[in-house]
Amino acid sequence: MNETTYLQAPPSVEFIPLIEPEIRGHEWKYVKECLDTGWVSSAGTYVDRFEQLLAEQSRCEHAVATVNGTSALHVALIVAGVQPNDEVLVSTLTFIAPVNAIRYVGAWPVFVDAEPDYWQMDAGRVVEFLENGCQWKDGALYNRRTGRRVTAIVPVHVLGHPVDLDPILQVAQKFGLKVIEDATEGLGATYKGRPLGSIGDIGCFSFNGNKLITTGGGGMIVTSNEKWAKKAKYLTTQAKDDPIEYIHAEIGYNFRLTNIQAAIGCAQMEQLDTYVAAKRGIADRYSAALGGISGIQPMRQATWGKSTYWMYTVLVKEEVYGTNSRQLLRALAAKKIQTRPLWQPIHQSPAHIISRAGELPISEQLSKEALSLPCSVGLSEDSQKRVIDELLLCARH
Ligand SMILES: *Cc1c(COP(=O)(O)O)cnc(C)c1O
Repeated sequence: MNETTYLQAPPSVEFIPLIEPEIRGHEWKYVKECLDTGWVSSAGTYVDRFEQLLAEQSRCEHAVATVNGTSALHVALIVAGVQPNDEVLVSTLTFIAPVNAIRYVGAWPVFVDAEPDYWQMDAGRVVEFLENGCQWKDGALYNRRTGRRVTAIVPVHVLGHPVDLDPILQVAQKFGLKVIEDATEGLGATYKGRPLGSIGDIGCFSFNGNKLITTGGGGMIVTSNEKWAKKAKYLTTQAKDDPIEYIHAEIGYNFRLTNIQAAIGCAQMEQLDTYVAAKRGIADRYSAALGGISGIQPMRQATWGKSTYWMYTVLVKEEVYGTNSRQLLRALAAKKIQTRPLWQPIHQSPAHIISRAGELPISEQLSKEALSLPCSVGLSEDSQKRVIDELLLCARH
């Protein structure tokens, strides 16, 4: 397709965003209550309630609210005991936040490629690296190539789909590594019947504006390790040992979520099940319609879990479809349909080029071919049909 031939949609045609928040429950009521009572800041009943709701949802004993998902990951790495110069295995096909968090604590990422079927961290490669690329010495595991100690694994459940965790948990246990689940895109999804975030040693959620539920910005740490939960609460609230005399035994962080944000979160959590159902409905309709277009490969669901389809993504096979993912993005943009590629694999990111990586070809290929389609909880069937019709029109005839 020639770029200059993209036909612009007329002004009367409505813009279809990639993903937007859905505010339709008790959000106003709960926020008003915060404003009316003056409980607007980092203490208040909504913070406690929101933590309780996330602990219940993820079937963990404890939950600690944070200012965003990135800070949740940062603190989770600290309480899991990751030290400066340690190495941490992490997905390379991910939003950059978990890799940044690994660097915040002075540790180094070891990038793991995606598997080609569901685009998640490849558990087989994790096992392969730990068994053959590492060496057990004096009760710890060391990367043979760098000589650094390997202490943790951060599987990132991308796009609302679970990573195959069992092989990862098994090898982690064998070598005493901690597993920190980045479940920021996986709220509501399950792995073998268990909610994501609760399966490793500690899990993290995000309530950014584009996530399944939102507080504007926010995050949560969940764990059943009481000591870690207490430490996480302590570190996220400035590590205050004596609130009267302002004694601090450690350098803490101001990573607190406000009561106003938590109030929105409580209202959003009441709708989690209906949001998940809406996302799955959107995915079913896309998959049924797009399965018949040659060169468009809809995302799939593994037998090991249930996806929420938080982000609905397809692969665009240029040789068959006749257009590549970036050309398709621009053609759809001209029709006022917003789409987006997946992330640049983080091992290729200029921000992390210092962390050397081997060959990670699957992630590189996926990031070239993937395109995420409009999938807001509130996406109407009419709007979705417009997206599908345009995808049909762009196909090679
Ligand atoms: C959104 C996201 C985060 C970070 O969450 P914020 O709340 O935006 O800080 C971390 N990891 C992944 C994979 C994400 O998609």
